[in-house]
Amino acid sequence: MRRSVLTKVSINIKSGTLEEEGLVVGIDLGTTNSLVALINPDTGKPEVLGKAGELLVPSVVHITHDGFPVVGNIARQALITHPESTIFSVKRLLGRSYKDIEAHAPFYTYRILDEADEKLVRIEVSGKYFTPIELSAEILNELKRRAETITGRTVNRAVITVPAYFNDSQRQATRDAGKMAGLEVLRIVNEPTAASLAYGLGLKSTEAKTIVVYDLGGGTFDVSVLRIEDSVFEVLSTQGDTYLGGDDFDREIVKYWLHFLPEQLHSGAFKSLRLLAEQAKKEVCGGKVFEEIYNHAGGQYRLSLDLTIFESVTSHLMDKTIQSLQSALKDAKLTHEEIDEVIMVGGSTRMPFVKQRLVGLFGHIQVNDSLNPDEVVALGAAVEADVLAGNRNDILLLDVTPLSLGIETLGGLMDVLIPRNTKIPCKYVKSYTTSVDGQVKMSIAVYQGERELTAENRKLGELVLSGIPAMPAGLPKIEVAFLLNADGILTIEAKELKSGINQQVEIKPQFGLSDADVERMLMDSISHAKEDVARRMHVEARTEAEQMIYMVSRFLEKNAALLSEDEIDTTRKLSNALKATLTNSDKDTILQGIDSLNEYTRSFAERLMNKAVLSSLSGTHIDRI
Ligand code: AMP
Repeated sequence: MRRSVLTKVSINIKSGTLEEEGLVVGIDLGTTNSLVALINPDTGKPEVLGKAGELLVPSVVHITHDGFPVVGNIARQALITHPESTIFSVKRLLGRSYKDIEAHAPFYTYRILDEADEKLVRIEVSGKYFTPIELSAEILNELKRRAETITGRTVNRAVITVPAYFNDSQRQATRDAGKMAGLEVLRIVNEPTAASLAYGLGLKSTEAKTIVVYDLGGGTFDVSVLRIEDSVFEVLSTQGDTYLGGDDFDREIVKYWLHFLPEQLHSGAFKSLRLLAEQAKKEVCGGKVFEEIYNHAGGQYRLSLDLTIFESVTSHLMDKTIQSLQSALKDAKLTHEEIDEVIMVGGSTRMPFVKQRLVGLFGHIQVNDSLNPDEVVALGAAVEADVLAGNRNDILLLDVTPLSLGIETLGGLMDVLIPRNTKIPCKYVKSYTTSVDGQVKMSIAVYQGERELTAENRKLGELVLSGIPAMPAGLPKIEVAFLLNADGILTIEAKELKSGINQQVEIKPQFGLSDADVERMLMDSISHAKEDVARRMHVEARTEAEQMIYMVSRFLEKNAALLSEDEIDTTRKLSNALKATLTNSDKDTILQGIDSLNEYTRSFAERLMNKAVLSSLSGTHIDRI
């Protein structure tokens, strides 16, 4: 697409100079290949840049002798000659620790450092260390450079796609890689969402659809069930196998051919047969019959393949993908009939039996395969990039948060600020106060999950607000704001309104949740709902009682001179009786204790108490942390 593009110009207010506004692109940062696309201003449609294949960059980074990274086709060739210094599949390592990938360590031909459990992995090549973020940044940089050469424009903003199951840590790592490559990352978008956008799904705000995205690439398989409603994409379920893809189909062909070779040649022939197998696969999938004389170790062997044999030697792999699809539907609690459309993504969906199986399962509906399955994710990312750059004001693309976010209040209770399924970006603000007189510091612990008690949810981080002016408990007004941006990254701000002091943190959980974790947390909250409510009520009663006992003792200390002996004595007795209910009593007994103490102290409290203490004693209208 070498064309004259309309150039937008903006004025830099500080320098007063005119600046060309850079292009905004969509990037599919893939496990095997990566691709960039943008909107053609003449047609308004997304396009992949360059002549066929010109911009399909193999996601491979070769580190040269002098420690210099080389990306793309040249690097891919080095996979065979220099496997120990050529990094492939870096996407599988993004945002992961050694513990996460340990089970698959033999898969990698380069050295991954076996470091502390929780640390993100690093790769060592000839004494130099590289992080997956840096290596991904190299790939992104290469895409950016090629796009700039073709368009003659600066490319500085992008939407980058990630698999739906990527957790916070993996998303954050992808975003960091974009930043490192000099891109402003407008949003991290789920690959199935991008694929849907490429087919125009979700662009009409009135549309409501449930769709299945079947994505079989070179090394990975994902299937996602999405619900699109009012332009909001909700991932209902995802399943898949991060180590199943076209390469495995190639391997089965090699295994089949080995039957025709003497056994002593098997190990030596495997590597060279892999490339031939991929070629044979593509030919038979294109309707041809493959035949070739293979020369190896002085011998000549006739290798052939037709579609029937190919499908029979790989049928177990195909079955595996269909089983994943069935369990994704089961997880989403949907039947085949409830699916409105299917989208095919990834080069391996060109194998004819993929479509046949999908049509067989979902006969009644549309199976979308009209777009190039290698390009569909990048094309959709370009659509989203265009929307986010503000070029289309007819559409608003929103996402939802999968789990509730909140903070811990007194007694270890979860106080939700952003409920699950809230559209993001969003901002919620709530006021809290102190629980102890003269409290100058408050720590705000942030949790994610659906349970009533924070101990059963997942802690995301903690923010400490210090420098609160010393005041009686209940007087400071602390406003806590949760800001959840479009990537699902949470920023928390706490402000004491009287003094204006504030603290801000961005919560970037090192290790996020897998879809299975999210599901488990939701299921737990449902199965424990009844018991949780009872526990919450018990904790609330106990907290109220503790507050009351504390306030009463402070009150007696300050105002003893103004009360009669009898009043002091009875108050103490009632307060001690309430204290006794805190161990082993049920909620109702505690509440009775509170009532009695309340009742007795009310008459003289009203008479004597200063306003602040009164407001604290007469029930908690703002939560205490
Ligand atoms: P991707 O990761 O989406 O680029 O997928 C690449 C995978 O698609 C590789 O395993 C290729 O062998 C496979 N592939 C590409 N073209 C075809 C084709 N015509 N028929 C079957 N598989 C193909």
